[in-house]
Amino acid sequence: MATPTSLTIGVLNGDDIGHEIVPASVRIAEAAARASGLAIDWRPMPIGRQALDELGTTMPEGMLETLATFDGFILGPIGHQAYPKVPAAINPHPILRKSFDLFANVRPTRSYPGIGCLYDDIDLVIVRENNEGFQPDRNVVAGSGEFRPTEDVTISVRVITRAGSMKVATAALEIARARKKRLTLVHKNTVFKLGCGMFVESCYEAAKAFPDVTIDEVIVDTFAMKLLREPQRFDVVVTTNMFGDILTDEAAGMVGGLGMAPGLCIGRGDIAMAQATHGSAPDIAGKGIANPYAMIESTRMLIEWLGRRHHNAAAGRTAALMKIGIETALAHPATRTPDIRGTASQQEMVDGILKAMENATHAVA
Ligand code: ATP
Repeated sequence: MATPTSLTIGVLNGDDIGHEIVPASVRIAEAAARASGLAIDWRPMPIGRQALDELGTTMPEGMLETLATFDGFILGPIGHQAYPKVPAAINPHPILRKSFDLFANVRPTRSYPGIGCLYDDIDLVIVRENNEGFQPDRNVVAGSGEFRPTEDVTISVRVITRAGSMKVATAALEIARARKKRLTLVHKNTVFKLGCGMFVESCYEAAKAFPDVTIDEVIVDTFAMKLLREPQRFDVVVTTNMFGDILTDEAAGMVGGLGMAPGLCIGRGDIAMAQATHGSAPDIAGKGIANPYAMIESTRMLIEWLGRRHHNAAAGRTAALMKIGIETALAHPATRTPDIRGTASQQEMVDGILKAMENATHAVA
């Protein structure tokens, strides 16, 4: 268990490119931690296809109980669409998000120079509700939120609760308070009068405790357009699950693609999960070209969050050193992958980050 200067972090590679980008993230975080006086006890655990092949299930027994003893964990992308259709091959990530009540998915979008961003000054955070909404595999405790009463009729149920909406709004308000004190609510209460209506009401209720944060609202379809035309208008955004899922991919597309879309799943508890926005990218797995940024940055966000949560200055230094390494590597085509206008293999990008951190160790000492 954690002491003030150490952290215990679970390592769940996931599937496909997860077996490349998660070990790369651990390598970089470990190097930064060592240089910053932080001890991290990394605990690898099988999950997904590897666990199914080795242990007969995608989520081995006891995994949740073990993870609960850690400070946080890294979850690589899960390629559940390719799992065999058997009961033991469940999609683990909704279970992890639910079990640890990780109701807020914090997804930043940032421009970096030279990598093909549509604008050079995007810096926003979309906070996506994580455990309710339209997602049929996670919005009910049994059965599915989608069903077909006749051959020609399908019904998808969307779940919005006051409690869930208040929780994600509060998480977003806290982030807004630490940034520019501005929060945009994205919804469609013009049509979903009850569902989005309850979400909006709950956000305003939560905002009563944050009088210093200015709130505005944008209807989701208009937001999708404004995000493309004036992304600089937005700072922190909170929205429901499905809208957040779509809008964060749109935002990623504006700053270099899915390889540039990190995420951190947080709740009210002390545990958090680093999870990039992208999937397991089976089309490029094993080719050594997957962009590791999103996973590395997600890992960095986890360490930074744990540093704040535990008042652990060494974790703060670790995250700061990782940031320098990442930004330095991204600045040069020779140390960034081809999807972001680079010439590097994934390994060369990782080596570039490690080297940049080595050169910058004094900056965080
Ligand atoms: P999911 O629904 O699980 O999020 P998806 O169907 O959206 O997954 P992804 O696996 O995210 O699909 O891949 C979408 C596209 O983005 C693919 O062409 C993939 O190669 C590319 N991609 C995803 N992640 C990366 C990455 N880290 N680096 C480079 N390309 C990536």
